[in-house]
Amino acid sequence: MPNVIRYRLDKKRRYAGEEAGRELVDYLNSQGQDRQQVIDLLNDAATLVESLLPFSGRDPEKSLIEIKRSPALYKKIMKARDRLDLEHLARYRVQYWIEPKKFISGERVSEVICHPMPAIAYQIDAVLELIRQDKLLSVRQCQECHRWYFARFSHQEFCTGTCRAKFQTTTEAFKERRREYMRGYYKLQMSGKAK
Ligand SMILES: [Zn+2]
Repeated sequence: MPNVIRYRLDKKRRYAGEEAGRELVDYLNSQGQDRQQVIDLLNDAATLVESLLPFSGRDPEKSLIEIKRSPALYKKIMKARDRLDLEHLARYRVQYWIEPKKFISGERVSEVICHPMPAIAYQIDAVLELIRQDKLLSVRQCQECHRWYFARFSHQEFCTGTCRAKFQTTTEAFKERRREYMRGYYKLQMSGKAK
């Protein structure tokens, strides 16, 4: 019975960043024409988050000195930072304001996309929101079906249990074939017919 109880609790729990994550994942799984731009942005953001998050809460100055001791890592971080800054965020921006009439009719915060019309402004917003909530690395690609998904748990590697099972079966079959091949190989070696 413990499984049933846990399932119910999970259903009730609200996951931070899940809304932005789901929106982004839906877009990444669509055939949007600017999809590659969003993927590039996501990769750069993920590079920064992955490299910097382990230092979170530590002394910033000392952390940076430590990062600089690894020139490759430092270069990687700065490259991702520059790309994020210059190529994407400055060009694609959403402006927010409170419009009295709209506020009264229910739209509490209004937003307008700055010109030139950026097709991926909302996706960029979603990426930024996920960074703020430390949830960016939850946007992942399934190892089995390669679809994007929002991971609810840090150890999750597949979009569904079905994909996890499929991947394991394939991996097991591959390992078995390899075991058989190696057995045959050793037999051949023992017989002196192979070098
Ligand atoms: Zn999958």
